[in-house]
Amino acid sequence: MELYSLTIHEARSLLAERKISALELTEAVLERILEVDNAIRAYLTLTPEEALEQARLADARRTQGDDAPLLGIPVAIKDVICTAGIPTTAGSRILENFIPPYDATAVAHLKAAGAIILGKTNTDEFAMGSSTENSAFFATRNPWDLERVPGGSSGGSAAAVAADECLGALGSDTGGSVRQPASFCGVVGLKPTYGRVSRYGLIAFASSLDQIGVLAKDVTDAAILLQVIAGYDPRDSTSVNLPVPDYMAALTGGLHGVTVGVPKEYFAAPEVMQPEVTAAVQAAVGVLADLGARILDISLPHTEYALPVYYLIAPAEASANLARYDGVRYGLRVERGDLIETYNATRGQGFGPEGKRRIMLGTYAWSAGYYDAYYLKAQKVRTLIRADFDAAFGQVDVIIAPTAPTTAFRIGEKVADPLQMYLSDIFTLSMNLAGICGVSIPCGFDHDGLPIGMQVLGPAFGEEQVLRVAYAYEQATEWHLRKPDDGRFRK
Ligand code: GLN
Repeated sequence: MELYSLTIHEARSLLAERKISALELTEAVLERILEVDNAIRAYLTLTPEEALEQARLADARRTQGDDAPLLGIPVAIKDVICTAGIPTTAGSRILENFIPPYDATAVAHLKAAGAIILGKTNTDEFAMGSSTENSAFFATRNPWDLERVPGGSSGGSAAAVAADECLGALGSDTGGSVRQPASFCGVVGLKPTYGRVSRYGLIAFASSLDQIGVLAKDVTDAAILLQVIAGYDPRDSTSVNLPVPDYMAALTGGLHGVTVGVPKEYFAAPEVMQPEVTAAVQAAVGVLADLGARILDISLPHTEYALPVYYLIAPAEASANLARYDGVRYGLRVERGDLIETYNATRGQGFGPEGKRRIMLGTYAWSAGYYDAYYLKAQKVRTLIRADFDAAFGQVDVIIAPTAPTTAFRIGEKVADPLQMYLSDIFTLSMNLAGICGVSIPCGFDHDGLPIGMQVLGPAFGEEQVLRVAYAYEQATEWHLRKPDDGRFRK
């Protein structure tokens, strides 16, 4: 077995037993990147020298008896998360030359745990998108089929994990951007509860929805990564001061006494649904039943409003968050005669079409005269969506749903029609509106050999039960062990 194809937990044992060194592992992954990333294009920035230096340091730390949880593990970071001294572009021209002076708290936690940062992964501009085609730089390709998108907006991170170009990665999820690319690339993608992981140093998109999450090769690795990045941070006022449970301990225990809810609204959208996705998720529910879970049909009646509510709230918050890119404090500056012209030229050239579309939608939703009709109304319906989940979690421990209505679509297929693109998130938006947690795990393949993902959703701070159910399913199936045929993308 090649070192780059190891999971984090496998590499961790080999490192602890001194069977491999962090340097060997990091070199193997860097070589892998050189070999495949011309075809996949998962990375925007690579930091090989720093990575090798960190690997040597990790080996030295281990010699001194250090056993930090990620000591010597090479990981990738979505380029909306700040890394000190390393460019952080958010996939946008407006931040093309931005080098943050500080690390995001999640990155600082990874480093303290001994992880090795390989580089920064491609993303839709400001994480706005579902295919990574909105990156100002280039599109990333799906390792299972290079003509298809990896999903988005954390498409670079998901593709890098799927193509063994890192052992695990950070992403961000505002409306599905960790879970949907995980499902398209056949990997595990965990969106923690709002407040569970600090967003300090995450470039803000929609602040009431944004959450940093992890992309991993299996559920155990997702638990390991979450363990490291979770916790209270006084620098993020929305992070919650609750103890971080032992997520590894939460994996085992099986499904006896666990009630699994199956919401009818997530299986009844034939106009957008690929039948193979429905069938795979229904079969997975059968597997959970065989493992001892009790299955309950439930309803989340306001599901159909998630898309319009999200596309009012997210752009409104985005329009405010993006106001800071004015060519004065940081990022691109297109100098013109006076200040207003400089603002206009900077923002006109710096933002791509999707960023501009969101700013216009959001400014409209927040403008005097329309505020009550759109934004305020959306907030009220958001409360109803949240109440749906509260009621459901009064009856069940977790909820199972498809992650996306289809498998990975073709590059270019939806770029001309934003509404079609937005529809790829109909099953992931509600969880951000409600602030709850969930994971996407592989649950099958379609007739083209493309991965299918399903979500295991839990209430706020229910990561333990989510991981336990996901792990039980993973142990009973082999979907997560399949890898894309790398003959497609190896040099
Ligand atoms: N695709 C959704 C959007 O474009 C969600 C993005 C995300 O989660 N960052 O807004």
